[in-house]
Order: sequence, then C-alpha cells, then structure tokens
Amino acid sequence: MNRMLTGFALGAGLFIGGLATAAHAAEVTLARLDCGTPQDPVAVNDRFSDTYAFPGLKLQFVFSCYVIKHGDEYMLWDTGHSMAAPNVAPKVSVVDQLAKIDVKPDQIKYVGISHYHADHTGQVDSFPKATLLIGAREWEAITSPKPAQGVNFKPFEGWIKGDNKVEVQPIDKDVFGDGSVIVLRTPGHTPGHSSLLVKLAQMGPVLITGDAAHFHENYDTDGVPAFNFDRAQTVASIERMKKIGANLKATIIIQHDARDVEKLPAFPAFAK
Ligand SMILES: [Zn+2]
Repeated sequence: MNRMLTGFALGAGLFIGGLATAAHAAEVTLARLDCGTPQDPVAVNDRFSDTYAFPGLKLQFVFSCYVIKHGDEYMLWDTGHSMAAPNVAPKVSVVDQLAKIDVKPDQIKYVGISHYHADHTGQVDSFPKATLLIGAREWEAITSPKPAQGVNFKPFEGWIKGDNKVEVQPIDKDVFGDGSVIVLRTPGHTPGHSSLLVKLAQMGPVLITGDAAHFHENYDTDGVPAFNFDRAQTVASIERMKKIGANLKATIIIQHDARDVEKLPAFPAFAK
C-alpha cells in the first residue's frame, strides 16, 4: 500500500513537472569556441596514464570553451588560455569571438569554470559582470592565502575581493532552474572539478567533460593521469559520466580531445 501511494505521488509530481517545463521551455543552444592554440601531438603515456597504459601513443590536444544560449541569456563554460600565455594563447580572444554573434561581455550572465588550471581560467576576468559558478573545493583553493602551484587565482581577483558575484557549489547546480543546463560534480582531476550537462532539443543531451578525462582512451578505460589530485575520485567521476551518457544517450565531448571538435557545428553556428 505504501509503495502504491509513493508511486502515485511520484507519478503526479513528474506529470505536473512535465507540464510546467513544456509551458516555459526556453530554447537552449550550444557552441564551441577555440580557446587556445594547439601544440604538437603529446606523448600521453608518462603524464596522462598512472598505469603506463599507452606506450608510444601521441594525441592531438585542443583547448575548448563553450557558449550556451538559454532563451535570451548566455552562459560561458570555461574561458581558455590567457591572451598573454606563451605559445598557447588563443588566436582570437573569447570577447572577440563572441562579438561575431553580437554578444557583449556584459551579456554573459554566468561563467561556469570546470577547474582552476590556467588553460580553463585565463580569460575569466573579461567577464566581471558574470556570476561565477565554481565548485566549492576549487573556490577554497583559489581563495587560499597561499594558493598551491597550478591554481590560477590571479584572474579571479574581482570575485575574490567581492566586487563580482560568485555562487560556490558543494553539489550539482541546475543553472537555469529548468533542468536544461546542469553543472555536475566530477572531482578527481582537481578537488572541486565540474563537468557540464546541456540538454538540447534536437541533438539531445551533451555532456562536456572538462578535464575529468583528457582523451577518449582514458575515458574508455577509466584511465587516470599521474598528476591528478585523487585517483579514486577520478575513477568514480568517469563512472558517473559513463552512466549519465548511457542513461540519457548523451553525446560525450572531451574538451581537450581534437577528435571531439567536430561533434558540434563550427562556430558561429550553434547546435540545437
Ligand atoms: Zn585542461
């Protein structure tokens, strides 16, 4: 009896929720930006596999950030390398790429950051009006009195001082409140690492990994880079992403893997 009542209540809730979503559904679209200049292919065995799983394998890495349009609102996911970064700086800044679609920096409502490394955070300071969405453990590292090596805290100055808005996230975050864009906790590469799930009407769900995996061979085999913060968390996060991918039939996009660039149309086109 209890089970029947619970089942009925759950069913009713889902039904009402479904109606509400249909009535207010904002169109969600997604595009990739080039956020760094690719270098020569990288031999991945030493640094990117703590079990030496890939002797002789060289892979082409790229640097990706993403722009999500939700109704009339914009979100950025990661901000790539700084324009001052030696060799790897993007050819065109994020601000100048957004200008191609007539979007000004102040129109970016949210900047979601997967993690604190320089290749994901270099241009965040171009968006001081945006609310920063960041994992709690990343924020702890960025605001530490003595940030550890590899924590690219400098471009976060406006948020650290309290001039700009930040939403620090201990758990997943439903960004627009309608289930269409969700920041997922995927720790392991760094303590508070996040990935992003974007549900598109035509393409279906897209899971953008951040650096929870750097390339498909590691993703497929639960491979862990030797420099990751926590091995067990990395494996658990890959398991989570694989289950979401299977359950939602999601497209998996690994930000650094050159083979995933063409999963989205070339900017300024957006996937729908
Ligand atoms: Zn990276």
